Parts: sequence; C-alpha cells; structure tokens
Amino acid sequence: MGTRFTLGWWTVTDCLFCSIAAGEVPATLVHEDDLVLAFRDINPQAPTHVLVIPREHIRSAAELTPAQDPLWARLLHVGQRVAEADGIDESGFRIVTNIGRDGGQTVDHLHLHVLGGRPMSWPPG
Ligand code: AMP
Ligand code: ZN
Repeated sequence: MGTRFTLGWWTVTDCLFCSIAAGEVPATLVHEDDLVLAFRDINPQAPTHVLVIPREHIRSAAELTPAQDPLWARLLHVGQRVAEADGIDESGFRIVTNIGRDGGQTVDHLHLHVLGGRPMSWPPG
C-alpha cells in the first residue's frame, strides 16, 4: 500500500493504483491474479491501452530489487496475454514503463503501459 491515512473510521491511501487494487476506485479490469492486475487506461493513447500493475506498492521500475525478478517477469507475461486477448500480438505492440519526472511518470506506482492497435512512432515524445 502507499501511505494510508485514517480519518476516524475511514482509511484511505494516497496511491491511486493501490486504491484500484483494493477495489476502492473502479477500473475496467482485463486481468487479475494474486500478484498482478491489468486494467484499461482512463485516457487511452491507442485502441489498446492497458496498464499492468503489481498489487504491491512499488514506486517504479527503478525501485525493483533482484528478489522481485519473478514479479517483473509476471508483469511482462501479463502484458503479452493482454496483447493476445486484444488481438494485437500479431500486428505488434509496445510495452513501456515511465520512471520519474523526466520519464513522464505521473502515478508513482509501478505500471507497464501496453499500447497497440495502431502504428507507434519512434522516438517517443
Ligand atoms: P504514467 O504517466 O506513466 O505514470 O501513467 C499513468 C497513467 O494512468 C496515464 O496514462 C493515465 O491516463 C492513467 N490513469 C490515471 N488515472 C487512471 C484511472 N483512474 N484509471 C485508469 N487509468 C488511469
Ligand atoms: Zn500504490
């Protein structure tokens, strides 16, 4: 969890994606298991735009430890499965993770963007 605040009987987290993982904020889930969640981005940048997150609060990919190698692999595998389910595995897709301010990260809970269904330009903006 991100930092949790208790206001009387009401406990909230300051992390949006922890709130989604806890079912406190609605999202369009496309995958859910014991470690990982995937849901559609609220502001999609491509026909497929899905976010894959660990349930555990990890600030970014820069914070991963070697002990979390299996979790990182699981995130990538769920990204593959999302692409297959949306039918973009043959046409190709992009998996990116933004890190920190210059990386364009706006939500400080590790997430993979799975983007596809249209050609992606390079370099990214
Ligand atoms: P980043 O800029 O890499 O941190 O990506 C954060 C992403 O979260 C953006 O693409 C947002 O559109 C997306 N986002 C923000 N709020 C929500 C939400 N409530 N449900 C789904 N996606 C969200
Ligand atoms: Zn979080």
